[in-house]
Amino acid sequence: MVAPNPYDTAKQQVDRVGKLIGLDPEVIELLKVPRRELGVNFPVRMDDGSMRMFKGYRVQHNFARGPLKGGVRFHPNVTLDEVRALAMWMTWKCAVVGIPFGGAKGGVVCNPKELSKRELEKITRRYTSEISLIIGPQEDIPAPDVYTDAQTMAWMMDTYSMSVGHSVPGIVTGKPIEIGGSKGREEATSRGVMYVAQEAAKAKGMELKDASVAVQGFGNVGWHAARLLHQESGCRIIAVSDSSGGIFSEKGFDPVAVYEHKKKTASVKGFPGTEDITNEELLELKCDLLVPAALENVITKENAPNVKAKIVVEGANGPTTPEADVILFKNGIMLVPDILANAGGVTVSYFEWVQDLQFFFWTVEQIKERLREIMTSSFKRVHDLSQAKKSDLRTAAYMLALGEVARAFELRGVYP
Ligand code: NAD
Repeated sequence: MVAPNPYDTAKQQVDRVGKLIGLDPEVIELLKVPRRELGVNFPVRMDDGSMRMFKGYRVQHNFARGPLKGGVRFHPNVTLDEVRALAMWMTWKCAVVGIPFGGAKGGVVCNPKELSKRELEKITRRYTSEISLIIGPQEDIPAPDVYTDAQTMAWMMDTYSMSVGHSVPGIVTGKPIEIGGSKGREEATSRGVMYVAQEAAKAKGMELKDASVAVQGFGNVGWHAARLLHQESGCRIIAVSDSSGGIFSEKGFDPVAVYEHKKKTASVKGFPGTEDITNEELLELKCDLLVPAALENVITKENAPNVKAKIVVEGANGPTTPEADVILFKNGIMLVPDILANAGGVTVSYFEWVQDLQFFFWTVEQIKERLREIMTSSFKRVHDLSQAKKSDLRTAAYMLALGEVARAFELRGVYP
């Protein structure tokens, strides 16, 4: 099976919902294309003395609603089309939760697992320097994504600051707290996932306490989602996975102990008291809540009929294909879409940026409370619309998002 091109998926979503809400076809065409795309090829001196070329991208989709915002991904399978899709999804995400940003995304084609820390630092710094043509604290503010983290952001912040001659903490979010990062940012995406899972469970008349949960991906989003759902919502975590495969136990396990095991062995597999399963099997487990939190296109028309979860909360971006969406909806499965479900990350990134611009920092309680308010009220807006239109939650979220971005565009008009 050939995986669908995520940019095609992203464009189809705009076409379908744009028509549904009666957007002018010219506006639909405008919303489907990124405003700017920068591709860069740059050399890096490797530890063994050789020189290697790397390819990177920064795509800016739409800035009708404000400065641009979006993560940077380091992965061997990064393509321009993937970055375009991810940039577009950022635009809708910011609109759904009412954050005054447009969407952007970046990526470097590389395999961090095969690079030393020094090589990663060089790649990060050179990539930052190459894209500094179009990023800036008022222009476009990167953040972490797959296989990038707070350390990556620290290098990006330092590189940009060196080029302008003074410290610019607002150039990236997801930085370490010591250099202007926000409390609560590291777990923010997952905390948002938990808040919307709580709302989805309420809407379904279910209890999250003792609910069985399977999480695909055990990185920033997956690991903190498993931990928070276990510690703060009393869920029973029955399965988790990473790129090497997954583990399952009907009784459930403590995700913190699995995290310790992964730190020692570099994999979740082999955790005592569990059986090994594949990533594919994890998605089809009988469970109350399924959180895909790894990569795109994992729930497809092939496996969607076998998904048995009552609720799916998309921690990852684009894990479900449009055909799979239709099947899940028909089967009565409530799917909370990525542009709502994982918007906690960009929400606290926005909080971080606001704090950096003011050099005035908030308490973790303020962060959690403001995040909860935004996630629960956004869920309610989307859910109410889906009830009124008898649609799935993704369609409702897109209706809201496209409407807001189109309205911003109309207000600003066509320059000149
Ligand atoms: P990460 O690099 O911290 O973790 C990725 C995880 O996915 C790792 O556990 C890795 O082992 C696993 N993985 C990789 N390939 C896999 C495969 N083929 N099958 C199963 N698991 C695999 O990345 P992250 O930041 O947690 O991002 C995960 C997803 O969440 C991505 O779709 C990302 O765009 C999305 N997201 C992240 C944030 C954020 O704040 N970090 C915010 C919104 C959305």
